[in-house]
Parts: sequence; structure tokens; C-alpha cells
Amino acid sequence: MAGMVFRDLGHPETPDRAYADALQARAERLADAAAFITSSFTGAPAELAAEVAAAVDSLEPEITALSHRIFETPEVAFHEQRSAGAVAAAVERLTGVQATVGAYGLETAVEASIGSSHGGAPTVAILGEYDALPGIGHGCGHNIIAASAVGAFAALARLGDRLPGRVVLLGTPAEEGSSGKELMARRGAFDGIDAALMAHGFGYDAIDHPFIGRRILRMEFEGVAAHASASPFLGRNALDAVTLAYQAVGLLRQHLPPTDRVHGIVKEGGERPSVIPRRAVLEFYLRSHRADTLKELSRRLADIAHGAALATGTGVTLVWDPLPATLPTRFNRPLSERWAVHQATRGRKALTSAEVPSELAASTDFGNVSVRVPGIHPVIKVSPPGIALHTAEFAGWASSEAGDRAAVDAAFGLALTALDFLADGELRAAAREDFEGAGGALNVEEYFA
Ligand SMILES: [Zn+2]
Ligand SMILES: [Zn+2]
Repeated sequence: MAGMVFRDLGHPETPDRAYADALQARAERLADAAAFITSSFTGAPAELAAEVAAAVDSLEPEITALSHRIFETPEVAFHEQRSAGAVAAAVERLTGVQATVGAYGLETAVEASIGSSHGGAPTVAILGEYDALPGIGHGCGHNIIAASAVGAFAALARLGDRLPGRVVLLGTPAEEGSSGKELMARRGAFDGIDAALMAHGFGYDAIDHPFIGRRILRMEFEGVAAHASASPFLGRNALDAVTLAYQAVGLLRQHLPPTDRVHGIVKEGGERPSVIPRRAVLEFYLRSHRADTLKELSRRLADIAHGAALATGTGVTLVWDPLPATLPTRFNRPLSERWAVHQATRGRKALTSAEVPSELAASTDFGNVSVRVPGIHPVIKVSPPGIALHTAEFAGWASSEAGDRAAVDAAFGLALTALDFLADGELRAAAREDFEGAGGALNVEEYFA
């Protein structure tokens, strides 16, 4: 064809950025036009709030030092010994309170608490993650999360006896792909907690950027091995079943809700071409914005596996969620609004999912916390908008001056929102009502059973 230029097939092409750029351009337009989010609640008394705000500012060197310390020694899920140790040491140094390392049966989970829930006073939890990614270190910026949580906790500790309730700091390991918070929840980490707060670095400031549900499905096909040339009719090909299932998922995509995601790899596909593969394994992640649509997506994937097995004369075993599923995150609106109000005083305009592209969604184990107790999981701007999490580029931002600023501003937002929750009974009632309106507490362990 005239004008057609063939590229060098020794290399992949560069993916076109037109769609990603268009999303970003739309987001920037909408962000400029967006109003600042307000709150109809008064929150904590002004004097207490001012004292906590000043405490956060005075803790700035400690917050950024902890962020860098964790950044420099990245540790993957369940192996965060040095990071958990750094969190516990900072808590003890800054508050004089003993921190427990190895809480709730996880060697690298941390817990510390201040204040008291005597006489029915409320309890709020502030959560900090600190696991890194294999190969790219803190490409998700969890160093910032840990530092902001410790900073908020230490600032609130300065109130001493005037703290109007109890604050629990939870160092929550193994967020990346491993549902550490769900494992902690099953051992009681959120019993007696009235609300849970954390903040995550991102390319935008937003209160409800979606974090969607995720399940893992491994399809293990078992066939019958045979000589692939001499007696193939005596075999049943497990790789054929994998091929059919993979193709069927491709065809299914047309009929899914547009924001559902299914992505998979072939884990095992046979040993050598001359042997009909006796065993072949596919692993998929299934993601959806709603718990009920994730359930329906699960059913359709199971049907596909069974259909592929039937068509090829193989057997199939479905292994669901070798690590616990994560549910879509609920964002408690009254508490999120308090966060946004406090961020505005730091010069940050917290946006909503109406402005920030919700197509850029991933998952977090905080979802499972947010369906147990009212919770917030705002994102705070660390990088320019186009930088994806889980990249070396984002890691660069997570250790930059912008990352340090985000850690301190997040500590500020967490501390003041926690204080609002403890001090303002009307806010607590509204947070509870919002939680019940979203479906109340879910039985996570049995949800997909
Ligand atoms: Zn991540
Ligand atoms: Zn993350």
C-alpha cells in the first residue's frame, strides 16, 4: 500500500499514548473547574486542632526521615522486617509508647495505641503500609504511607490526656498482591475500631479514586500424556484446554461491564513438544468495581474453565484466591470531606472520581477494611498525573521533595481527620449512617463462598 511503512519487527512497537493523554487532558480541565469540597461538620474544637496541626509541622523532619529510611531499604510483602522495625522505633522515640512488632500473627505487622476508649469514647485506626515491589522498590510509594501514619499518630500523641478517645496505629504489611490487612482483620485487628484512615500517594489529590475488587483464579487442567506423534489419539491435551479458556476469556471481554478487568498468564504449558501436556495452568486476576459484579465475573470464569475441560476431555480444578480476595473500597463521604477540608489548608484541592479518570483503577486490601468499618483511603498527589504506580518513575517521585511534602500533608490530613472523628459526635453518627447506607458490614470471609 502506498505510504505504508513497516516497522522493524525485531522490536515491539511503542504503544500509542493518545487515549492516556486524552484522559489526562480531560482530568486537568475538570480539575481546574472543580470546586473545593466542603464539610457540614465542625469537627474538633479549634484549639485542639491548631495544637495538632502545629505538632505535625514540628514533626516534619522526623516524617521525611522515616519516609527516606523505608524507601532506601525496600522489602517485599511479608519480609518487611527493617521497615516494621523502623516504624516501631519511630513510634517509641516520638511518643514514648511501646509498639508491638508481630501483631495479629504477622511477623511484620505493627501495633501501638494512645488514649482511651473508657466510658464509650471512640477508637480510630490510622494505617500505614510499607511493603515494596520486587525489582522496582517503592514504586507504589508505601514509604510515604508509613511515614504519614506515624507522623499523624505522633502528632495526636502530643495531646496526652486531652485526646478525646483512642487512636490505634496499625502497620499493615503485605498490601502488594497479598491482602495483609485481610489476614490481620481475620485475627481481630479491626475489632473495637470505629473508623480506619489511610492515604496513598498518586498522580492526583482525590477522595474517592476507585480501588476495585480483585480475585485470583488458577485453572489447573489435567490431561492424559501421550506421544504427540506416535499416539496422540491416546492423549488428552491440557494445553488445548488452556488455549480454549484463554480465548474464551478474550471473547467474554466484549460482554463484560466496560470497567471490569480480566488478565492472565500461562503458568504451566507442558514440558516438550513431543509429549501431549498432561498438566497446564492458567492464572487470572479478575477485577470489578462492585462486589456483586465481581461475583458474577467469577461465575463466568468458572463456566469457561468447565467448558474448556469438557471440550478437551480434560479435568479441571479451580483454585480460588490462594491469598484472600480484595473487595472494592468504600469511601466514607463525611470523613472524606473532612480530609478534603484539611487538605485545602495545605494548598491541595482534593478532587473526586468525577474529575480523576476512574479508568486508571487498581485494587487494595484496604477495601476489605472499608467493608468492615467506616474508612477513608484518599490519594495524595506525589507525581505528575501521567505517572503510573508500580513504575521506577513513580519510585523516583516517592523519594523526591514532592514525596516528602505529600508525606507531611498526608500526616496532617490523617491527624486532623482522626481528631475530628474522635471529637465530633455528629460526624461519627453521619459516618456510621453513610457506612450503613453503603450496605453495612460485609462478611468478607464468606462473601464468595
Ligand atoms: Zn501497589
Ligand atoms: Zn500501593
